[in-house]
Amino acid sequence: MKKQIQFADQKQEFNKRPTKIGRRSLSRSISQSSTDSYSSAASYTDSSDDETSPRDKQQKNSKGNGDFCIKNIKQADFGRREIEIAEQEMPALMALRKRAQGEKPLAGAKVVGCTHITAQTAVLMETLSALGAQCRWAACNIYSTQNEVAAALAEGGFSVFAWKGESEDDFWWCIDRCVNLEGWQPNMILDDGGDLTHWIYKKYPNMFKKIKGIVEESVTGVHRLYQLSKAGKLCVPAMNVNDSVTKQKFDNLYCCRESILDGLKRTTDVMFGGKQVVVCGYGEVGKGCCAALKAMGSIVYVTEIDPICALQACMDGFRLVKLNEVIRQVDIVITCTGNKNVVVRENLDRMKNGCIVCNMGHSNTEIDVASLRTPELTWERVRSQVDHVIWPDGKRIVLLAEGRLLNLSCSTVPTFVLSITATTQALALIELYNAPEGRYKQDVYLLPKKMGKRDTHIHMSTGNVMKTVISNS
Ligand code: NAD
Repeated sequence: MKKQIQFADQKQEFNKRPTKIGRRSLSRSISQSSTDSYSSAASYTDSSDDETSPRDKQQKNSKGNGDFCIKNIKQADFGRREIEIAEQEMPALMALRKRAQGEKPLAGAKVVGCTHITAQTAVLMETLSALGAQCRWAACNIYSTQNEVAAALAEGGFSVFAWKGESEDDFWWCIDRCVNLEGWQPNMILDDGGDLTHWIYKKYPNMFKKIKGIVEESVTGVHRLYQLSKAGKLCVPAMNVNDSVTKQKFDNLYCCRESILDGLKRTTDVMFGGKQVVVCGYGEVGKGCCAALKAMGSIVYVTEIDPICALQACMDGFRLVKLNEVIRQVDIVITCTGNKNVVVRENLDRMKNGCIVCNMGHSNTEIDVASLRTPELTWERVRSQVDHVIWPDGKRIVLLAEGRLLNLSCSTVPTFVLSITATTQALALIELYNAPEGRYKQDVYLLPKKMGKRDTHIHMSTGNVMKTVISNS
C-alpha cells in the first residue's frame, strides 16, 4: 500500500523552491540543487539562432514527430557528433547496450528524467532506450543544456523539453510537459536536484501509485528525499546515487584531481610549478587536489581537523599546517572540507597580494564571501567567474566563482567520471524497476555494493590494462 501524500509542510520539505519570475527572465539559475551536480556542456553557438522562445516555435523532426521543445532541431547533426565523442569515454554504458541486445531489463519502463542535458546524458538516455525504456526528459538547470545535443535527441525520437537559457517559468513548463501527457504516465523517476520529484508530489500525487522508484543524483535532492522519508511522506523507494561507493570513490577523488588544474588554469592562466598552495581538508576531494598540484611541482600544505586524514597527509608527503601559519605566504588557497567558514575575513585580510582563493568543497559556504562585501573593499570583475577584491592599500586577492565550486563553475568534468555515475544511475533504475515486491520499502537506499562493483567491473573490462585486475578479483 502506498502512503497518502500530504503537502501541509511542503515548504520545509522543498525549502529551496524558487520564486516565480517572468517567462523570459534569465536572471539566475533557479535550482540551487543544480550546483551540486555536473554539467560538462561544451558551448555551441549558431549565428542563425533567433531570439524566439522555443515555446513559440513549431518544430518537427525528420520523421514528422513534434513531441519535444528545444532550441533548434537543425543542430541535430552537430549534436550527434558530440554524442559520439562522449560514447568513446563512456565504455560501461556502451557495454550495457551490447548486453541489452538480448535482454531488455527496462522493457515497459517509462522513465521521466530531469538532469543536465549534455552529450553524456544523451548516452545514458540512449542506453536506457536500448534497455527497453521509454524516456521523457527536462533539464535540471536552466543554463546547462547543450542545445545541439537536445536537437540530436529530438531527432532520434526522444521527447526532450529543454534549452540553454530557460526562464524560471520555462523550467517548470518543461518539467510539466514531460509528466503531463494524455495516455502516458511515468513509472520511474531519474532526478538531479529533486525538482522533478517535487513537481510530481505537488501537482500529480496520484502518479506515485504507478511509480516504482526514484533515482536521485545530487546532494540536495538526496537531502530532500531523506527529509520526506523522516516525515513519513516518501511514498516510493528511492535510490541515493550521490552517496554510492562508485561516486564517492571516483567522482570526489579522481574527478577533482583532474578538474582542479583545469579550473585554475582556465580562470587565471597560473603556472603551478613552484607555487605555494594550501589545501584545506584532506578527504577524497582534498587528496585529489593535493596529488594534482604536487605532480605539477607546487609546494602543497594541508590543513586538517581529523587526525586520521591528517596522518594520511603526512604519509603522503604533505606538510600539515594551521591555516594561519601559512596564510601570508601562499599563492593559492583551496577549500575542500564540506564545512562552512573555513576561510574567514581575518584570513582574507592577511593574504598576500595576488593570492588566488577558491572552493572545491561544499556549495558556496566554505569561504566567507559575504564578509568581503563591505564598503572599504572594491570588487572588480576581471573575467567571467573571476573577481579581484581590492583592499584600500591596493592589495588584491583573486576570488574564483564567488566561492562556489570551482570545477563545476569554471571547467568541464571528465566524461569517464560521468560515465561511472551514469552507469550507477542506469543500474539503480534496473534494480528498482525489477525488484520483487517488498525488497525495497518507502525509504532511501544506497545502491547495493555488489552493483557498484559491477559498475566498476564493466568500466575496467573495457580497458586492456585493467583486464589483469579483473581476472585476479
Ligand atoms: P571528506 O569527508 O572525505 O573530506 C573532508 C575533510 O575535510 C575531512 O577529512 C574533514 O576532517 C576535513 N575538514 C572538515 N572541516 C575542516 C576544517 N575546518 N579545516 C580543515 N579540514 C576540515 O569529503 P570529500 O569527499 O573530500 O568532499 C568534501 C566536499 O567536497 C563535500 O562537500 C563534497 O560534497 C564536495 N565535493 C565536491 C566535488 C567537486 O567536484 N568539486 C566532488 C565531490 C564532492
